[in-house]
Amino acid sequence: MAEFTGGCLCGAIRYKIDAPIAGLRACHCVNCQKSSGASGTVNAVVPSASFRLTKGETKKYDDSATRSGRTLSRHFCASCGSPIYSHRNPDPGFLVVRAGTLDDSSALRITGNIWTSTARPWAHIDPDTECHPENIPVPAPKP
Ligand SMILES: [Zn+2]
Ligand SMILES: [Zn+2]
Repeated sequence: MAEFTGGCLCGAIRYKIDAPIAGLRACHCVNCQKSSGASGTVNAVVPSASFRLTKGETKKYDDSATRSGRTLSRHFCASCGSPIYSHRNPDPGFLVVRAGTLDDSSALRITGNIWTSTARPWAHIDPDTECHPENIPVPAPKP
């Protein structure tokens, strides 16, 4: 049984995640602001192997990550535009799922913030969480 399920606004895309999610990470980089139309993105970092689309196919936009210039593939629903997940290319073994697409995230909290140096003045950042002015290398999830 999947530990988490989710999908896009119109229902064309559905997915499941067979892994626990320890905490959520908010990204305040300018690219996530443009992509989301909001203060940035809030994400669950999960092993790539644990994520599976159960309905539909995403369309992707190959973004160039802030500063590092690494290719970041941003996957979204071509029908309603909901951002679903992103991952570095080549796939480093984990991907970053937009937490707002989870069906139930009631047990999850934001535990860390990255790119706070470019956060919008109106973004809410809990000072009790881990904050990084730029990106941090995400440790590969344990198998
Ligand atoms: Zn959709
Ligand atoms: Zn970002």
